[in-house]
Amino acid sequence: MDGSSPTAHSILSEVFGFDGFRPMQADIVTAVAAGTDVLAILPTGGGKSLCFQLPALMRPGLTVVISPLIALMRDQVRALKEAGVSAGALTSANTEDENAEVFDALYKGDLKLLYMAPERLAAGGTDRMLAHAGVTLLAVDEAHCVSQWGHDFRPDYLRIGALRRALDVPLAAFTATADAETRDEIAARLFGGDEPTVFLGGFDRPNIHLAFAAKDKPREQILSFAAARKGQSGIVYCGTRAKTETLAKAMCDAGHSALAYHGGMEPDARREVERRFQTDDDLVVVATIAFGMGIDKPDIRWVAHADLPKSIEAYYQEIGRAGRDGAPAETLTLFGTDDIRFRRMQIDEGLAPPERRMADHGRLNALLGLAEAHQCRRLNLLSYFGEKPEPCGRCDLCDTPPETFDGTEAVRKALSAILRTGEMFGAGHLTDILVGNQTDKVRQRGHDDLPTFGVGKDLDRRMWGAVFRQMMGQDLVRPDPERHGGLRMTDAARPILRAEASITLRKDTMKPERRPAAKTL
Ligand code: ADP
Ligand code: ZN
Repeated sequence: MDGSSPTAHSILSEVFGFDGFRPMQADIVTAVAAGTDVLAILPTGGGKSLCFQLPALMRPGLTVVISPLIALMRDQVRALKEAGVSAGALTSANTEDENAEVFDALYKGDLKLLYMAPERLAAGGTDRMLAHAGVTLLAVDEAHCVSQWGHDFRPDYLRIGALRRALDVPLAAFTATADAETRDEIAARLFGGDEPTVFLGGFDRPNIHLAFAAKDKPREQILSFAAARKGQSGIVYCGTRAKTETLAKAMCDAGHSALAYHGGMEPDARREVERRFQTDDDLVVVATIAFGMGIDKPDIRWVAHADLPKSIEAYYQEIGRAGRDGAPAETLTLFGTDDIRFRRMQIDEGLAPPERRMADHGRLNALLGLAEAHQCRRLNLLSYFGEKPEPCGRCDLCDTPPETFDGTEAVRKALSAILRTGEMFGAGHLTDILVGNQTDKVRQRGHDDLPTFGVGKDLDRRMWGAVFRQMMGQDLVRPDPERHGGLRMTDAARPILRAEASITLRKDTMKPERRPAAKTL
């Protein structure tokens, strides 16, 4: 899943701002960067453009991208330029100035990606221009346009085969159309007699069981998950270096053979852990995400997250290290309010430009949606990557469908507590107000005089904790970095506050607090 080079990873994060590859991307990027002819079939939204943009930056010279969609080309060129990449498009929609700018960069030899509409291939002079432009890679988007039988047929796509031969460079073709006939036709027309390496997207890893749990007593949760798998290779991912050490110790105390691993360790010590993990068949590595790149162990039987990963892509990549041999593997991902706050703040306090931060929040939302899902995890996960699967029967929610209830009233009470206190407080203090708890802080602020004080007595503190967590998970409220993480209402919550929408919450993560058993005499 991530056999790609460190360079690919650093470009991925530095230029594109992503923290992990989507399924198949790493393998495709590696192949394309190495100059292999590639035909990749990925679902729409699967992340095809990265599969030629990133190799273009790893290779010397110019990558020419043929695409039929002018608006899309312009978008991509704009995004690449914003990321500091020299890119241009030659389309019929260009102004004279835009054309001049592209040719200028082309002659200077500093253009990395040149997008062209297929019609351009027919224009006089294009062949000669490209022959002298130092082209080292041809990428073809929407490659099914070369198929005469499809409804997107573009006659000019038929010129691509000849162009490839003339330039004598590798070709990478991408499409979302997967039927075997179209695939053969694409291969024949674009690659002539040469056989491209075919990547056929299918992101499911059916042998991996998926499960999430709200943090309750997180250390016990992880230890009991591991205890049921004693003697098997596993990885526990933690959010901090310090935690890898304490948890590794707890694992050892519980009788596991366990080692910590993080980026702050000496290179020699890290290599030793990697070596032992590779050779031992019962080692548990408790690690930060620094552990993983280059780990190529087929029989990792389980992966647990002691803290919520950064995004849905990171989640997929990390659990994907389990069960590469195809035998059953188990995963468990813990998440809680603090994780959500931590991840939000990490994005807000980062240096990324606003649009990128918004996209990061979106990818975190996707993961939170998966964590708080009401039905099949796999369905939720794979739909995010563009597939349309059936419920899987191999996730915790298929195993035991969760009970849900109409949480509209609870959410409205919580929102009202947030608004009446000026959107400055965290879930703990808000809960005190809702359940009518006379703490010092409540009294000092006069919050016991609010009409909201004590209106939530029907739920206990822990259940309110679950309500707030699900509200954060559904992005109805967000911690405000300018106000010490105090919860702020988002626009998504307005319809609920105005009673124009209702909301369903899960009940299973909201069991009332266990009361101490009554003493018997
Ligand atoms: P396709 O062409 O396959 O339909 P795109 O290349 O347009 O898909 O990518 C779809 C979306 O996924 C884009 O918003 C892109 O920014 C995002 N994306 C692609 N790769 C990644 C990644 N590795 N991590 C996070 N987001 C990604
Ligand atoms: Zn399922």
